[in-house]
Amino acid sequence: MAVQIQEVGPRDGLQNEATLLSTGQKLALIDRLARAGLRRIEAGSFVHPRAVPAMADSDQVFARLERHPGVAYGGLVLNERGYRRAVAAQVDEVHFSFAVTESFNRRNQRARPEESMALAASLAQEGRTQGLRLTLTLGAAFGCPFEGPVDEGQVIEYARQGAEVGFDEIVLADTIGVGVPSQAARLVRRAIEATGGRVPIGVHLHNTRNTGLANAYAALEAGAVVFDASVGGLGGCPFAPKATGNIATEALVYMPDGMGVATGIDLDALLAAARWLEEQVGHPLEGMVMKAGPFRAAPQAAEGAEAHAGGPHAG
Ligand code: ZN
Repeated sequence: MAVQIQEVGPRDGLQNEATLLSTGQKLALIDRLARAGLRRIEAGSFVHPRAVPAMADSDQVFARLERHPGVAYGGLVLNERGYRRAVAAQVDEVHFSFAVTESFNRRNQRARPEESMALAASLAQEGRTQGLRLTLTLGAAFGCPFEGPVDEGQVIEYARQGAEVGFDEIVLADTIGVGVPSQAARLVRRAIEATGGRVPIGVHLHNTRNTGLANAYAALEAGAVVFDASVGGLGGCPFAPKATGNIATEALVYMPDGMGVATGIDLDALLAAARWLEEQVGHPLEGMVMKAGPFRAAPQAAEGAEAHAGGPHAG
């Protein structure tokens, strides 16, 4: 059994950070992630620079990218103009995304969800003729900041349509981090059913209310095979100013590794990348594995444990 981790730190993480990294710093981050074994990296987003200033240099990021063999570098796209830019930038994967609720989608891409789905269908068709890999992310699938709870049936219907029109993967996104594990499991199960298991189902989870990793576990048990995550738990939530970001990539390596589910990622190299990134953004990141370190039967760790035995932390 194996899971695929899609690193979204260079996009979702950085776009929600107050500190703007230079193009050079972004390239260094992406390179560290590739060297740690991440095989899918969302390296930027092709949106209007006024809407997301932190992603204004995505074209340059792709132009200067040192592409490691076997690594797919993806770009987020919200409309046709973005799609053209992504193709011109030679992304390996187009990640088309829209929100399933009308208020959110109107605000984010000035279209009704049905209109975005229609555009998604035409881009999927075009992408296939160009041999591009396309994924569809359904935003606000777990809850909407404007409309509250969402109609699960509608989410599943978009997932079904996405698979039907030819997307290579459907990702259910808890954009604002309101989901709970039973919901994650149900959405994944229903999406697998509705798509007939023809395409991998992924989840994109934010840890806004500390349910991120529990949701990931529930999604994994329900059959999700792709997990978006952000190194160090970088980023935040645009609708909750003090909130944490995506679930941390290190947690998504540590947990499956311990469960015997392969991720193919070098945890030590990933932790080093997270610590390096912490210096670049200039504030502590949320990731917990990067603070505690990996768990191994190392002699130093045993000594440390002895020193604490019987102390105030015993038990
Ligand atoms: Zn996100």
